[in-house]
Amino acid sequence: MPEPETPLCERPWENVERMLGVDDALERILSAFAPLDAVEVPLLEALGQVLAEAIVADEDVPPFRNSAMDGYAVRAADTAGASVEHPIHLRVTGETPAGSPLQRTVAPGCAVRIMTGAAMPDGADAVVRFEETDEPERPVVGDLNRESPSMVGVTRPAKPWDNVRPAGEDVRRGALVLPTGTRLRPAEIGLLAALNRPTVTVHRRPRVGILSTGDEIVDLGPPLSRGQIRNSNSYTVAAMVQRLGGKPSLLGVARDSVGALRAKLAEGWNADLIVTSGGVSLGDYDVVKDVLQAEGEIAIWQVRMKPGKPLAFGHVRGTPLLGLPGNPVAAAVSFEQFGRPALLKMLGRQDWAIPTVEATVAERLDNRGQRRHFVRVALEYDGASYVARSAGEQGAGVLTSLVRSDGLLVVPEHLEVVEPGTRLPVQMVDWGL
Ligand code: AMP
Ligand code: MG
Repeated sequence: MPEPETPLCERPWENVERMLGVDDALERILSAFAPLDAVEVPLLEALGQVLAEAIVADEDVPPFRNSAMDGYAVRAADTAGASVEHPIHLRVTGETPAGSPLQRTVAPGCAVRIMTGAAMPDGADAVVRFEETDEPERPVVGDLNRESPSMVGVTRPAKPWDNVRPAGEDVRRGALVLPTGTRLRPAEIGLLAALNRPTVTVHRRPRVGILSTGDEIVDLGPPLSRGQIRNSNSYTVAAMVQRLGGKPSLLGVARDSVGALRAKLAEGWNADLIVTSGGVSLGDYDVVKDVLQAEGEIAIWQVRMKPGKPLAFGHVRGTPLLGLPGNPVAAAVSFEQFGRPALLKMLGRQDWAIPTVEATVAERLDNRGQRRHFVRVALEYDGASYVARSAGEQGAGVLTSLVRSDGLLVVPEHLEVVEPGTRLPVQMVDWGL
């Protein structure tokens, strides 16, 4: 049902006082979810998941003292007073590329040619970079077939531990590196690899069964007959689930009949969450509400939001079910507000707020009806702040403006008119997953 521009008094069924606030609806939904059980998975599969174990380092990273530069390992004291005019000459007693540690000790007056990452030879306490020696330009640094020069002139004094990375510089053995509850981004994956963890224990990914309802809804494939609408909601929601780290499974489209709906729902029993779309509006001629309420404990709410408003939530045979409105943008926005936090909580996350920036509204916006209005906006950065402009038609069925948007501007329930220049939050729904 498109959002009519009818004033409130002409819609007697819409009693704002009896509607549920967005935050209250979210709180009720979230209370039904907990982090899912812990599973051990290969490191790379854990990207985006949340640690269900604390990671304590059982080795130093790096494991040994090594050179941070290509140059010469020296005794810093030997280089005191060195300058370009008066280089200090040291005898080169060897060469150590990374991976081939030298057993010999660097004696006073000597130096060892060393490459980045190579273990520091005993005796040496600093590395002088090639640029600070008289070593002529060498086209192939580290070429083992090339003779090391027998002497090198140092042109600048080195301080002890210059260009040397101590063992455990990054991570000390025994340190708590990543606490339980850490979300694994590429940085954490890299650190776990550095700590030799080929597998990690994380909260498992939620399985989400996705079902569209409606006699007029047709899945991808056959041409549409008159009166039919293509199923887009299942795909929008599945993509959101997948991006958040869940495992979507498409249960298809159920006709608005008791039998069809029951049969389709039955395929979702092994899911951690079933998400339906359609059939929950007040004026709907369909059986979704009846079936849901007969099969389980489902509440149908009118939520103070736009787009969206009708929302169903409860359990069918013990499986949580979130019933989204049918209009494509209402379904997408409702899923972002309610489905996303539920999914993140199941994944073990403690932070499920959508990343938000503050933007200056560039044009006047109306918000009658005392609902929280999620306006699809395009953002531009003007050098000082983000500027938000409507991304186009705001009808609940207009997906193309969602496509053109960078985020959802959140207009509070009580604000009837947003004047240009007003600063409001914008939910960056595509950020930070
Ligand atoms: P309903 O909530 O069932 O009354 O549906 C509201 C509007 O959303 C109607 O215009 C439906 O045709 C449309 N709609 C419902 N389900 C879908 C879907 N899966 N994909 C695209 N549009 C849908
Ligand atoms: Mg319907």
